[in-house]
Amino acid sequence: MRQLLCQVCGGPADRTEAGVLWLLQDHRQDWVGWPEAMAVTEPPICRACVPLSLKLCPALRKGAVTVRAQGYPLVGFHGQLHTGADLFPRAVGKAITTFESPTARWILATGLVRELRSCLVTALEAR
Ligand SMILES: [Zn+2]
Repeated sequence: MRQLLCQVCGGPADRTEAGVLWLLQDHRQDWVGWPEAMAVTEPPICRACVPLSLKLCPALRKGAVTVRAQGYPLVGFHGQLHTGADLFPRAVGKAITTFESPTARWILATGLVRELRSCLVTALEAR
């Protein structure tokens, strides 16, 4: 995620003047302008890996789109949230947080989170 490498093959993610390519579940019904300002936990993808990802990822079978984002700052991380109410920290569930949040110190991070900006939803792009 930090280096914008493809989530499938680890090579460079596809990048054009329109932005870096992401393959996402289709949630265009969630809000007008989706996925603008959405936090993503999945790294971008290269065009060659789109068909394989569509074939193997169960979540994408419900509907998927490719998105080009021109802005994609790192905004936080995700992982296992813990509570400090007991003598030892205890896991209470998955969470996403910003780097600045007081909650951040209670999360055992498993990945970075980027925010997608200046997005363009495209027809499924594949090579
Ligand atoms: Zn790839």
